Amino acid sequence: MEQFLNKETLQSFIKILTDSRRIAIVSHVNPDGDAIGSSMALSRVLHNMGKNVDVVIPNDFPDFLSWVEGSNEVINFEAEREKAETVINKSDLLFILDFNDFDRSEEMAETLKGYEGDSIMLDHHPLPVAPCDIVISDTSISSTCELLFRVLSDAELDNFIDKSAAEAIFAGMMTDTGNFSYNASSPDTYRIIAALLEKGIDKDQVHANVYHTFSMSRWRLIGHSLKEKMVILPELKTGYISLSKTELEKYNYQSGDTEGLVNYPLMVKGIVFCVLFTEMDDFVKVSLRSKGSFSVNEFARAHFNGGGHDNAAGGKIDMKLDEAIEKFESLLPDYKEKLYAAE
Ligand code: 5GP
Ligand code: MN
Repeated sequence: MEQFLNKETLQSFIKILTDSRRIAIVSHVNPDGDAIGSSMALSRVLHNMGKNVDVVIPNDFPDFLSWVEGSNEVINFEAEREKAETVINKSDLLFILDFNDFDRSEEMAETLKGYEGDSIMLDHHPLPVAPCDIVISDTSISSTCELLFRVLSDAELDNFIDKSAAEAIFAGMMTDTGNFSYNASSPDTYRIIAALLEKGIDKDQVHANVYHTFSMSRWRLIGHSLKEKMVILPELKTGYISLSKTELEKYNYQSGDTEGLVNYPLMVKGIVFCVLFTEMDDFVKVSLRSKGSFSVNEFARAHFNGGGHDNAAGGKIDMKLDEAIEKFESLLPDYKEKLYAAE
């Protein structure tokens, strides 16, 4: 595999790391498999190097990631604010993983903006804005976990990746590519998987831990969504699903239960753009996916206070659920040309 970092970045990366003793790792709100995977993997590597390291996340992570080694020691900012602030402020190096704008950590953003030590960003989202001493940002890499592996290899630290760290890296690579169904066409991705397998990971077990641990109520919620709530607008090549708070409560919604649900309309022939609207306490969460050249990052930035990648983005809007859907439907005709040009 070719060297990924340029010489200068690599040298400053190694120097900052060598000079640091207390290290904090932070990731984005509603942490996903890539956020938790990269944070836990880096945490183990740094621990194996003899560093003092803590992981802080803005809020809780879904249950399907609780098997990741060490995830029970993660500090949840929402639940333990004082402890989280102390850990961040007392560290001499801060790693920002899988996000590039402090505001994506919501309640934690002010603490990150006030932090004065060294910082390193490892991320794969467009338009990095958080001011960090080292910014390692590449949108062509499908997950932060893959990026982390490449950076550690370049720095010749991959011998510190043990089996647990390798499993966490694999989990992030797997979840950010929909189990290698999209953004997963780089040969290097599979070279890295080969290296992880050589570290002894049980790939099938990681897959089962993430994808085969649904509750019955989660399946019922999916069934309800597909049968009653999926709307397909073939003439606009668009589909969407919406879920109200009442529906979520009826199916005993737990964080993570709607993970992946957004993708189903894209499986309908001809559909290139889809959205999941989820009614939360005081806003509507919007998840967007697309095929080909239709950029949901642009759509989310323009209309739903969000962003993300070209084919996967998110956002939110302070509206009632039916108002958000009405707004969405009214925007679509203006995008007809782009939707038809997508594939
Ligand atoms: P999801 O739909 O799974 O919540 O998010 C899909 C992608 O969009 C993720 O890569 C995530 O980082 C990004 N994303 C989700 N919500 C937001 C948001 O509110 N703002 C921005 N900038 N990105 C988001
Ligand atoms: Mn990611």
